[in-house]
Amino acid sequence: MARNPRYDVLFEPVRIGPVTARNRFYAVPHAAGMTNAMPHMRARFRETKAEGGWGVVCTGYVSIDPTADDAPLPYATLWDDDDIRSHALMTEAVHRHGALAGIELWHGGGSVMNRLSRLPPLSPSGTSWMATHVNFMGNQRPKAMDAEDIRALLAMQAAAARRARSAGFDIVYVYAGMGYLPYEFLLPEWNLRTDAYGGSVANRVRLVRELLEVTREAVGTTCAVALRLSLEELRARPSERAPSEAHEVVALLSDTVDLWDVKLDSSPTDCAPSRFAPEGSHEKVIDFVKSLTPKPVVGVGRFTSPDAMVGQIRRGVLDLIGAARPSIADPFLPRKIDEGREGDIRECIGCNICISSWHDSVPVRCTQNPTIGEEWRRDWHPERIAPAGSTASVLVVGAGPAGLECALALGQRGYEVTVAEAGDDIGGRLRFETRLPGLSAWGRVLDWRRAQLQRLVNVNVYRGNRLTADDILGLGHTHVVIATGAHWARLLYSPLEIPVGELEGSGVFTPDDVAAGARLESPVVVYDFDNYYMGSALAEQLAQSGHVVSYVTPAGHASAWTIMSNEQPQVHRALFTAGIGLHTLSRVTAFARGEVTLANQFTGAETRLECAALLIVGTRFADDALYAALAPRAGELAGAGIRSLTRIGDALAPGAIVHAVYSGHRYARELDADAAALAYRRDAPLPRLA
Ligand code: ADP
Ligand code: SF4
Repeated sequence: MARNPRYDVLFEPVRIGPVTARNRFYAVPHAAGMTNAMPHMRARFRETKAEGGWGVVCTGYVSIDPTADDAPLPYATLWDDDDIRSHALMTEAVHRHGALAGIELWHGGGSVMNRLSRLPPLSPSGTSWMATHVNFMGNQRPKAMDAEDIRALLAMQAAAARRARSAGFDIVYVYAGMGYLPYEFLLPEWNLRTDAYGGSVANRVRLVRELLEVTREAVGTTCAVALRLSLEELRARPSERAPSEAHEVVALLSDTVDLWDVKLDSSPTDCAPSRFAPEGSHEKVIDFVKSLTPKPVVGVGRFTSPDAMVGQIRRGVLDLIGAARPSIADPFLPRKIDEGREGDIRECIGCNICISSWHDSVPVRCTQNPTIGEEWRRDWHPERIAPAGSTASVLVVGAGPAGLECALALGQRGYEVTVAEAGDDIGGRLRFETRLPGLSAWGRVLDWRRAQLQRLVNVNVYRGNRLTADDILGLGHTHVVIATGAHWARLLYSPLEIPVGELEGSGVFTPDDVAAGARLESPVVVYDFDNYYMGSALAEQLAQSGHVVSYVTPAGHASAWTIMSNEQPQVHRALFTAGIGLHTLSRVTAFARGEVTLANQFTGAETRLECAALLIVGTRFADDALYAALAPRAGELAGAGIRSLTRIGDALAPGAIVHAVYSGHRYARELDADAAALAYRRDAPLPRLA
């Protein structure tokens, strides 16, 4: 198909200093969890984006010196010449597909703890990030930089920039964002200096200017010099000379950069979850930049719609459409627009499982795109899949995320696939969960698969078909895949921090009951030790529908795990706004006569809460009765021509949607695959030169 001329503007080349991007699609620097210890995974992951049509593909954060050590979080290094080859693998791979390669040189300053290098962290004035969440806390306070430290920093940046040029990068960054060292100089709370680097905005900008200057000197006319700048805090500060300090900073630096990469300041607002922020949420902060500079501007906003992208260009907000998450969910997004296939874009759902992978210090994962991070390790390509290895037919029982992904990938391989779904429509857990407050964008998991499946004549989907073991034995398929999901249990939480002791009786509910339409009486107590979205989203929904709601959890925060997905600050705001009473560090120990008994998790001290309905959002168990009924009947299975019986998704091991999709995809990739394809391939650092 031909490209829609409405989108031609997105494919115009953009000059960035001495280099030219072939189009306006810019895969911005983002954490991907692949360090120098995984050079091949990293190169192939970024190569796939270049192949998918992005005009520029960037690294994640690359430390310029051991004084910038973010361990155990996964960062890359360019500390010495030995590190060059590891990055050159990526630039060569990206260049093979005609894209430019950008590198985000980074110094973490007082926001990192140097746990690995054990060197004193550096900062403008000895202050560090006193995070409220354990993952980012540390006991090491930074050194206040003296003049010698500043000279050393400039030398580090220059040396790293020279190495970046040797590694083949086209765009070299100075990173003044998100609490990291150059950003710390920009903000007066961090920067209390009384020398030429502190005080007025012009003084606070000095370090960033000098970093830009040494970078340019180091890369000469070979590479463009980009500045990545967080503007949220600066924009909120009044200035005597300009509408805000952000305006002042941009004006002061306008002559020193080839490219502005502008963003917000804290991860939960910069990489905001769709549950709480719409597409394009950066615009209100960064919209002024283009009016102050003739240089190209790139920014992000979880853009997946080409019309929204064109809007950003036409309205003069951006020159280049930056993307981290949309390029993870669909590395081929630009190609699909170019080929008039925008309907095929696998749109990011904004769940932030990708960012949680970084917080977990593992390679990036994605709910929508199971192949991300697996391009080299498993040789999974997001758009290509091996043809069927046999003429086998496959029965998939259950059409939730696992069954749908499995059926789709099997269908794309060319297998004859039958999907049987008990419900009157496909979607499984998504049908209910996407109706919870803020979660409608998650419906893209279903919408995309539904649309793709409709094109496959070799996949037949039967709704309203609850299959029994005998039904399956009678259907005569070669392989049977059980994707029947999971259910929530009424178990409580023990002092050992495990689920025990089922709570029976009327007035006790689980999310499955709410999904099935149960009517709850007020006051409702939501008891959450699942710790992800379900507890807080249900509490919000019940409050919105007029219930008096309390939220109880043994954890220290509501939806405690969502600190990993950047949702937690907003979960707390949402509960507060909805008037929901919050009881942390509390276990429910009993429920009778209109009240629940809570015990403090550590002291055991008891309190009571009025309660007509107790909604336990605790643990989930696999719905594997069908599997259990079939598995022992080996003789009958063989007699029916069934060669394999396999559980996938929640029916195997209940998890988040990302796990179900991955499980379904993996089954489809591995059916009839040879041993080499099944091997667990391990990446390793390149050997050091002597
Ligand atoms: P997952 O996340 O693993 O995909 P879900 O719970 O979302 O799991 O989906 C499981 C699906 O399986 C549900 O739509 C459910 O209706 C369906 N299902 C469960 N048991 C049967 C059965 N015996 N026959 C057909 N479909 C079933
Ligand atoms: Fe988007 Fe979620 Fe995938 Fe991240 S994990 S890219 S937020 S769909």
